Amino acid sequence: MDLTHGLACNSRCEEEVERIIALIRNNVKLSATVPKRLAANRRAIAVTSAFYLVIGSIFLTAGISHDVSLLTALGGCFLAFGLFSLSRMREVPKADAKDSAK
Ligand SMILES: [Zn+2]
Repeated sequence: MDLTHGLACNSRCEEEVERIIALIRNNVKLSATVPKRLAANRRAIAVTSAFYLVIGSIFLTAGISHDVSLLTALGGCFLAFGLFSLSRMREVPKADAKDSAK
């Protein structure tokens, strides 16, 4: 049986094939927004990392120059977390310009 975007055995797998067709259609629709979502995700991680790195640097500098160990420790923690956050950017693939043009 021809379901336009797929073939199904008559009165046996029509429902399943229709569900698969709907799933593919949905995926095709969603995939158009993926490059934009990936780019937004990378931007958010970059901004968050920059925030932690800046705060960490300020705390660390203040802690060392005023000899306040609490500030130094906080600065170190913020810096470490900023680097960890930055490393997570590798997990988000770069949006491929070729794909988004399709
Ligand atoms: Zn079948």
